[in-house]
Amino acid sequence: MSDSAGRRLRQLGDVAVSQLRHVGEKRTEALASLGIENVFDLLTVYPRRYIDRTKRVDLSDLTVGEEAAVFGEVKKVSSRRTKQGKVMVEVSVADDGGSIKIVFFNQAWRERQLPVGVQALFFAKVGEYKGQRQMTNPVVDVIVGPSGDERDLSRVGRVVAIYPASGKAGLTSWEIGGFIEESLRRAGPLLDPVPSSVRDELELVDRTQSYWGIHLPTDLADVAPARRRLVFDEFLRLQLLLALRRRRLEQSATAIRHPIDPEDLDVEPGAALLPSSTLVRRFLAGHHFALTNAQRRVLADIAADMASPLPMHRLLQGDVGSGKTVVALTTLLAAIDGGRQGALMAPTEVLAEQHLASLRKDLEGLSVHDERVLGGERPLSIQLLSGRVRARDRQVILDGLADASVDIVVGTHALLTDDVRFKALGAIVIDEQHRFGVEQRATLRDKGKQHSEERADPDLLVMTATPIPRTAAMVVFGDLDRSVLDEMPVGRVPIITSWAREQREVNECWQKVRDEVAKGRRAYVICPLVEGSERVEATSAVEERTRLALGELRGLSVGLLHGQMKGPEKEEVMAQFRAGDLNVLVATVVIEVGVDVAEASVIVIEDAWRFGLAQLHQLRGRVGRGDAQSFCYLLGAPPNDEGAVRLQALVDSNDGFALAEVDLDLRGEGTLLGARQRGRSDLRLANLRRDEDLLIAAQSVASALVQVDGLGLEPELVDELRLFVDDDEADYLFKS
Ligand code: ADP
Ligand code: MG
Repeated sequence: MSDSAGRRLRQLGDVAVSQLRHVGEKRTEALASLGIENVFDLLTVYPRRYIDRTKRVDLSDLTVGEEAAVFGEVKKVSSRRTKQGKVMVEVSVADDGGSIKIVFFNQAWRERQLPVGVQALFFAKVGEYKGQRQMTNPVVDVIVGPSGDERDLSRVGRVVAIYPASGKAGLTSWEIGGFIEESLRRAGPLLDPVPSSVRDELELVDRTQSYWGIHLPTDLADVAPARRRLVFDEFLRLQLLLALRRRRLEQSATAIRHPIDPEDLDVEPGAALLPSSTLVRRFLAGHHFALTNAQRRVLADIAADMASPLPMHRLLQGDVGSGKTVVALTTLLAAIDGGRQGALMAPTEVLAEQHLASLRKDLEGLSVHDERVLGGERPLSIQLLSGRVRARDRQVILDGLADASVDIVVGTHALLTDDVRFKALGAIVIDEQHRFGVEQRATLRDKGKQHSEERADPDLLVMTATPIPRTAAMVVFGDLDRSVLDEMPVGRVPIITSWAREQREVNECWQKVRDEVAKGRRAYVICPLVEGSERVEATSAVEERTRLALGELRGLSVGLLHGQMKGPEKEEVMAQFRAGDLNVLVATVVIEVGVDVAEASVIVIEDAWRFGLAQLHQLRGRVGRGDAQSFCYLLGAPPNDEGAVRLQALVDSNDGFALAEVDLDLRGEGTLLGARQRGRSDLRLANLRRDEDLLIAAQSVASALVQVDGLGLEPELVDELRLFVDDDEADYLFKS
């Protein structure tokens, strides 16, 4: 049972900040500009750091050359122009033990921020100027402003929390701390919605303690347990929402049971076929290769999902080149074997078109039963629906989907607009779909149902080649089951990646392109990312192609592919490159995802540091798809360490999962989580790597709680979740 006494977070969410004692109109506005409107918002503004006043560095014993945080009062401030014409603000800061000079260049506003009497924390390396210790352009946290009421020293405990003060909004850390303290005192004890059995087991402090411990610690040792509890709560809420969503989907599901014969998944290339053999069997037997163990395992997962009374909702993760396409096609064919249709969605038109081409090739010769045609058999029909299909053709395809004379449709998101109706949509596969959030997927699923005359939930397989570390996947894809293709097809030769720093190395790179072309292979050259518009980027790609064709790659046939080209033009170029009429393809990142030309064995990435690590790995994955040794060259000098770390990581590893970990380290999880949810993001303190154990604990607590009665027994938790979902979703998730 939870403690039923105390105030709920949602009640705090109902109290406007303007009801606090020192918050008038101006501060209400200032807080609003930081997204803080109510007391709950305020309590989730967490301290950036703490100063332990008992251990403060004395200004008299600062060591030159070391970083230090000094706390003191401004005694003098002045500004002048240097000989070079820069504005220089000079501030003298003192504590009981000594003083230090602080200078700011080109920050004239500091004079207003730091009038005499302000107490602030300054953080920088301690330097020396004319024998005096000095800090230059430090980070500043104003703790106590110049006005009277903020200087009530009774509020200065042993430990002072430093908040992300905002110079722009004109709020000091001290003021924010004051509002928070008032809020906590007036709120009194907080209701703890987490059952005490759970708290005991995970050794979590209670909620009241957690908010006091993080905001008003009496000792620094209070902070860590407080943070732990708050992080757990963040994860718990998120996992509860995911578990509830899942439960809802399952309850409202009218799934299609697709019968799949496990023996069909086990066929070897060239296995015998009977007239009655399924499409799945025909397809798999028709390959020149056997499935990898990983592919078999994943297909077994999928077959079990498809045969079950619940709709499949599965994420397939597999590094670039691990063979996801075969899995996707088998899934679609299983739906067709069951008398239904399949849809394959790709993120870009280029990829959709390529999928169409390779699907048609892969599925050539397969036929389906159709009572309406003479002989009861007709060829499998695969069609493309994209923004570029002409209206007349489009209508023919739409009719075909509506009467099921089209079996598989390939396209972009445009596939699921309102006028696209299926007779019986059985399975949807989404390729390379890592950029979309939970809601978008839910919408997609709902559409699947509404758009099908049959009104059943299609099975859904979401594929991504951007490996996501496990913890991040639990957050971003927490409502999906997961399968991983963790094995490459045999015979793959790891790509050799070089970072060409010196001119000699760059020359070798172009020489390698010529050598490989001489062997009948092909090369990609990826143009730098250009800030601004696609048009500007296209222009620079055009120029680069000309430059290379006249220079380093003179004599080779060099094609061009960029985002501003028209569809048929792009197709034409891809076809020429595939056929070998073009030796080299100079392209912008339009080729990033999924382009598959087995003869391509070199990829040169210009200004490689401009791309993200995942993107670079994707780009590199355009080569090494056949059995020849392939090469990747990274060009350009990174202007910062981070860029260098990325390029070196790529040189060191071909393993997408390892690179994803590096990436997460470099970028933090913010970017990954960005697409997670619209509206309010609840992960403020949590750090996926550091708090992995709490995430796992929260997931298992959430699924146990939701399993019992869909949270029916935990009204307080439901109440709290309402803070994070809009009304529509709340109705959907919480109705009993
Ligand atoms: P991705 O996972 O990047 O989408 P693909 O499905 O495009 O990878 O597969 C990459 C290449 O590997 C393709 O040329 C495909 O035909 C081939 N392939 C897939 N599975 C196997 C296998 N089991 N054995 C050998 N080659 C395979
Ligand atoms: Mg692919």
